[in-house]
Amino acid sequence: MSDTIFGKITRGEIPTEFLYEDDQCVVIRDIQPQAPTHVLIIPKKPIPKLVDADDADQALLGHLMLVAGRVATQLGVGDGFRLVVNNGEAGGQTVFHLHLHILAGRTMAEGELSQGMQ
Ligand code: AMP
Repeated sequence: MSDTIFGKITRGEIPTEFLYEDDQCVVIRDIQPQAPTHVLIIPKKPIPKLVDADDADQALLGHLMLVAGRVATQLGVGDGFRLVVNNGEAGGQTVFHLHLHILAGRTMAEGELSQGMQ
């Protein structure tokens, strides 16, 4: 399985501030934020894309969602945020290590599903 920048980050090989960490995932700030609050929930297990996850990952995927809610609340955006998973190049994925984006801090346009939220 090919390594990615997120593999290096989750293993602590690239110094990065963790807003949250547990045995299954870390949360970091996105280096190119698309909204005033833009953080990434990254599992330590390097699943390349959401479609590569299988039944054995069910608890992990649920955990990532719960962490997203808790972290959003801790960051003060629990009342309104968007959770995004890009899957594959056509889905806008650029780092092939599964991750969830939390985007918040400005009004999310109704019907706008892209990460960029023009
Ligand atoms: P995606 O397009 O869904 O694969 O999202 C990848 C995200 O990772 C993009 O929003 C990038 O800005 C972000 N990113 C890439 N490298 C880093 C890094 N070293 N630290 C934090 N965020 C990063």
